[in-house]
Amino acid sequence: MSSILAKSLRSIKPSALSSVKSRQFSASAMRLEEVTPTSLHTFTEEETMFKQAVSKYATEVLAPRVRSQDELMGLEVDAELGGAGASFMSAIITVEGRLCLILELAKVDPSISTVCDVHNTLVNTMLKDYGTQAQKEKYLGPLATTTLGSFCLSEAGSGSDAFALQTKAVKEGNKWILNGSKMWISNSYEADTFLVFANVDPSKGYKGITCFIVEKDWGVQVAKKEKKLGIRASSTCVLSFDNVEVPEENVLGEIGQGYKYAIRILNEGRIGIGAQMVGLAQGAFDAAIPYTFQRKQFGKFIGDFQGMQFQMAQIQTEIEAARLMVYNAARIKESGKPFIMEAAMAKLFAGQVAKRASAMAIEWCGGVGFTRDLPVEKFYRDAMIGQIYEGTTNIQLQTIAKLLKPKYA
Ligand SMILES: Cc1cc2nc3c(=O)[nH]c(=O)nc-3n(C[C@H](O)[C@H](O)[C@H](O)COP(=O)(O)OP(=O)(O)OC[C@H]3O[C@@H](n4cnc5c(N)ncnc54)[C@H](O)[C@@H]3O)c2cc1C
Repeated sequence: MSSILAKSLRSIKPSALSSVKSRQFSASAMRLEEVTPTSLHTFTEEETMFKQAVSKYATEVLAPRVRSQDELMGLEVDAELGGAGASFMSAIITVEGRLCLILELAKVDPSISTVCDVHNTLVNTMLKDYGTQAQKEKYLGPLATTTLGSFCLSEAGSGSDAFALQTKAVKEGNKWILNGSKMWISNSYEADTFLVFANVDPSKGYKGITCFIVEKDWGVQVAKKEKKLGIRASSTCVLSFDNVEVPEENVLGEIGQGYKYAIRILNEGRIGIGAQMVGLAQGAFDAAIPYTFQRKQFGKFIGDFQGMQFQMAQIQTEIEAARLMVYNAARIKESGKPFIMEAAMAKLFAGQVAKRASAMAIEWCGGVGFTRDLPVEKFYRDAMIGQIYEGTTNIQLQTIAKLLKPKYA
């Protein structure tokens, strides 16, 4: 099945990247009046092909498995990540490429988009941006083909206040010894490579936080797999590190800079979660609307009642607004300009829209929407995670408010 994806991806020309970059003009090199305004829906030919390939993969390969994976609470990892699915992940090297992947996958199964988002946006980007050549050669190759990565920051006592983490690393000879526990770690049941944030010098507070590349075989223990409300096919586990020995060459980036890397990567990651929520909202909408033109009450299709039409129009407008905010944040980021506020707004709003859209999708389908006969109840359960991970709703509001204040105070 995954050959569909491999074939589609092979047909995408390598020039995809250069054409993405061509959109990144610098103001000094170009006069504004010479710029033809384009809509945020304008994609290059290669981006459009990529989008179509992902969409085909999602509907033909993923869709038939969505319900069973949700009920089994686990991914069918072998087929999914061992073959073309994995090379697919490695293909995503532009922010918009990643967003497109996450959004299209989330339309069909938000769990799978979580797996891809963590693997690509958090793990691979960290290795690509901060890894040594040797680290990239050792880890990025397998991560692009057969292995899965996890990003291990949160702990039981440090969620929103992430840098209060307690996991410690102590240097002994040419090794670091890791002790502690991580919580809520996505992909961790299946992962082989873990980016673990630990403090090497608690007396320095968050400035002691350092990132380590840790292999599962070195003693990473899965202490508990969570039973969750939503995104159930994406594993979320408690991990424990009991005297795990990490070679000194496995420090990622610089000692004491882990907090900076985490902030940077999570700021960018929020755009990805925004994309996931837009995809989810559109998926719920697309799953519900056809039903309203099959179901008759009072002698008419329920989708023809104005009361229903206005609600649908409102939700589709909100999804469109969220989509534009997500792409706008991505394009600001790709142009090298500050994007933190736009990313926080995009994640905040897209998460809210996903919650509203999936709730309305259930209402529009009446009793059937409340059952597992339609996928809308799953979209509703999955939408809640958008309010929690990579910064809760309140943390997004706090970020936006913090950046607003200097403009006025
Ligand atoms: C399914 C799932 C997958 C996850 N995947 C990962 C992963 O792969 N890697 C990883 O490192 N982490 C992961 N996380 C952790 C996630 O990032 C945290 O759950 C999140 O940051 C919130 O932390 P918390 O759960 O401790 O909640 P808390 O921080 O305890 O928050 C609880 C409530 O208090 C509010 N609150 C907290 N501080 C403030 C404040 N200053 N002002 C106003 N309100 C506040 C929050 O908004 C929230 O409503 C995952 C979580 C889940 C549920």
